[in-house]
Amino acid sequence: MRVDIAKGILEKNDTLAEGNRELFARKGVFVVDLMASPGAGKTSTILATIAALRDRYRIAVIEGDIASRVDAEKIAAHGIPAVQINTGGACHLESDMIRRAVDTLDLDEIDLLIIENVGNLVCPTDFDLGEHAKIMILSVPEGHDKPYKYPGIFQLSEAVILNKYDTVSFFDFNEEEFRSVVHDLNPTAPVFAIAATKGEGVDAWVEWLAARIEAAKVVQS
Ligand code: MG
Ligand code: ZN
Repeated sequence: MRVDIAKGILEKNDTLAEGNRELFARKGVFVVDLMASPGAGKTSTILATIAALRDRYRIAVIEGDIASRVDAEKIAAHGIPAVQINTGGACHLESDMIRRAVDTLDLDEIDLLIIENVGNLVCPTDFDLGEHAKIMILSVPEGHDKPYKYPGIFQLSEAVILNKYDTVSFFDFNEEEFRSVVHDLNPTAPVFAIAATKGEGVDAWVEWLAARIEAAKVVQS
């Protein structure tokens, strides 16, 4: 149950998200909000995505973390513009943080903006950032039961990435059950099994993403 203060914050965020969405549309930037638990492999998945798509799209990244610049530095080391947001304790990103980060980027030089949200399976789902698609990552060691426990994030995500798939035989991870529960929660969301650090399975995910980017261009023009 939400108290009025939380409702006010969410309404303000939604208004600012609309402003972000208009800006992204005007500049022709496709925006992804990547959500997952800490350690699921968000940054590794972003690096694998960059490797696969950097010849096709000009990519930039916004890194959301409670503290540190570690992830932004990892991205920037690959020659990709990266902005670090430190939330100072907040467990999710909000539209005003995104706007301040975006204002430091040259959107005319960007086709794809990947936002790495703060590691958290709960409240990032409440905050529209003005993105085109919210995507989530679950890693195999977290267990196949997570869709039962955190249905909201599975319902809201347009695609689900199952990362660390190379470890699936070492864990008691019931892939069939996982896919079945995800499908029940969100029948249209594809599930991409990948091993981001090895680049395995990344092709299907990036082709899906590229198709979404191209579809958004058609809508805009
Ligand atoms: Mg990270
Ligand atoms: Zn939060």
